[in-house]
Amino acid sequence: MARPRQCRRVSSMPESNYFKPRGIPLSMLETVILTVDEFEAVRLADLEGLYQEQAAEKMKVSRQTFGRIIESAHKKVAEALVKGRALKIEGGEFEMASVRKFRCSDCQHSWGLPYGTGRPGNCPTCKSENIGRAEMDKGKVRGTGIGQGACCRKAREKQ
Ligand SMILES: [Zn+2]
Repeated sequence: MARPRQCRRVSSMPESNYFKPRGIPLSMLETVILTVDEFEAVRLADLEGLYQEQAAEKMKVSRQTFGRIIESAHKKVAEALVKGRALKIEGGEFEMASVRKFRCSDCQHSWGLPYGTGRPGNCPTCKSENIGRAEMDKGKVRGTGIGQGACCRKAREKQ
């Protein structure tokens, strides 16, 4: 029996999802699409420096699957850098890890924290203690594409 495709757990969406070489019109550029799960793999393995086993566990995939994701991600990033392509981050098979959202009443800054971490004491931007929980922007996550697809929703309902 074939194993059902696992949804890849992603804990944060990219801050920016489009990069291009300076000074070249977009119409002249080829675009490389990095999926959100590939972006997450780069973040975990290359930026946070996790071992593949640990990173795979965070994304709820096997180490082999993680290996394939990171290999594909490295190839795409290298292609964009070496060949001067635009790089867009979107789509992929993933589900967002649950986060609690907080908002600062003074500067309107809002940010998310994973469950299991302590409640923040003050705003990371202006240090105000005038903060509270904010509603999640349901369905407004950027760059999802097929991301939050049926497989992810179904998996969540079963839990
Ligand atoms: Zn603030």
